[in-house]
Parts: sequence; structure tokens; C-alpha cells
Amino acid sequence: MSFTIDLGERTALVTGGGQGVGRAVCLSLAAAGARVLVNDFVPERADEVVKEIEAAGGTAAARPFDVSDYAAVTGAIGADQVDILVNNAGNAGPGGWDVKAPAAGSKGVSVSVGAFATTEPADWDRYFAVNLYGVMNCTRVALPGMIAAGEGRVITIVSDAGRVGEPNMAPYSAAKAGAAGFMRALAREVGGGGITVNNVSLSTVDTMGLEERAREDDQLADRLRRQLKRYMVPRLGRPDDVAGLVTFLASPLAAWITGQTYPVNGGYSVSV
Ligand code: ADP
Repeated sequence: MSFTIDLGERTALVTGGGQGVGRAVCLSLAAAGARVLVNDFVPERADEVVKEIEAAGGTAAARPFDVSDYAAVTGAIGADQVDILVNNAGNAGPGGWDVKAPAAGSKGVSVSVGAFATTEPADWDRYFAVNLYGVMNCTRVALPGMIAAGEGRVITIVSDAGRVGEPNMAPYSAAKAGAAGFMRALAREVGGGGITVNNVSLSTVDTMGLEERAREDDQLADRLRRQLKRYMVPRLGRPDDVAGLVTFLASPLAAWITGQTYPVNGGYSVSV
């Protein structure tokens, strides 16, 4: 048996599509024929991915906005017919692997949250604003068009932090668990109308060059070794490990799959 994923005639919006997992998802959906709206709150990142898609013969346009700002989401995509929504934008913060420098003028890329006992409600807000409200904002704006069309795909990138729980990332874990629950409820609410709603749950995807940096940094190498012991496939994830499943879930091949959460995590969640 052979099959082709053909997303021609469909428009996909990928939030946080300017780098890492989101970028790989944009490229994959475009390669399958979708017109891709690349969102990122750093406009230059979205522009770069649009150029990459166009250079490969695909169709794309940039939609720079902050997913946590409902008015901005409405203003930027309110007039678009979105057939496939990939809620990918997220902020993990330094409880994870890295403290990334926030983009100029941005909020929420990295905030100083560690042990829960040291955090304040304002810290929690930053995680909920992007990882939960960002998902609800974009879904709320895109969904009426899907309902009117009688078909659609909503795919949300969640995290094993929300299923297994990640120390020093409690607010992030809570927000991701919230997003997964929101999607399950939505799947049941809209399921009769040809709209499918699924989650893809990730463990660490190396979008920060961790494996390379670990060669020069003993502490990081040690942390990486401990992390990899928890994976059945002993390496960190790569953006393309995620993009294939998202593209499949976006396709007509996945028409009878909804309300599910798919782990893409090297076997992590079955080994803890
Ligand atoms: P990952 O490692 O999970 O792929 P990255 O931090 O590399 O995550 O990429 C996430 C992308 O999402 C970045 O390009 C970032 O600018 C974007 N992003 C983060 N927060 C928001 C937001 N609130 N709205 C839109 N884009 C965002």
C-alpha cells in the first residue's frame, strides 16, 4: 500500500512557526500542499519561514501576532479561513533546559520561574497566557470558520510536563495540562461536524543545540545523560519527529481520529 498526504486547497495556521518545532511543522504542511500562515510574535522569524516555503515552491504568508493577546489574534486572522490550526507557540522557561534570551519587546519567552515555593502569581500568569489562553484565543478565532465549512483540524502541541509533571516547571505543567483538557472537551463539543481535535505531547525536542553544546559543557552533558536514561530511544527529539505526525493528523487520512493525545517522546512517558 502506498499513500500520499495531500493538503492542497487547505489553509493551515501554525502558531510559533518561526523556529524549532513550529518551523518544521510549517515546512511539512507546505510540502504536503497546504497554504501556510506562519505566525510568530517575532516577525522576522515568520518572514524567514515564509521565504523558505516559497523557495521550495510552496505557498505561505506571515501572520505576526502574540497568541496571548486576543484582540491581536482577532485582528490578524479574523478574516482568514483556517482549515488546519496548529497551536504550537509556547514558553517553557528556565525550569527546563535553558534560559533563552527574550526577543526584544516580547513577553513570555523566558521568565525566571523555578521551585514553585519561590514563584508569584504574576509568574504563573505568563505561562497561562501563552500555553493555555494562547491556545484558546487562536482556537476561538479559527473555529467558527471550520464550523461553517463543516470540517477542520485543531492540533495542539502539549507537553509530557502536563501529563507526567515536571519539577521546577509546575505552572508550565499546569498550563499544558489545561490545554490538553480544553482540547478534549472541544473534541466532544464539535466532533459531530467533521472537525477533529487532537493533542501531540512532547518531551524534550532539541531546538537549542543541546547535544552539540553538551560536548563543551560537562554539567549540561551530565544532565543530558540522566535525561536520556529515561528515553527508550536514547536521544532527544528533533523537530521533524513531530512534523510528520502533525501533518498526518491534519490530513484526510486522520478523519476518524479525535479527542486523543499522542506522545512523541522517545518512550519517555512509559519509562517514568
Ligand atoms: P520549541 O523549542 O518548542 O520549538 P522555540 O522557543 O524554539 O520552541 O520556538 C517557539 C516559537 O514560538 C518561537 O519562534 C517564539 O518566538 C514563538 N512564540 C513564543 N511565544 C509566542 C507568542 N506568545 N505568540 C507567538 N509566538 C510565540
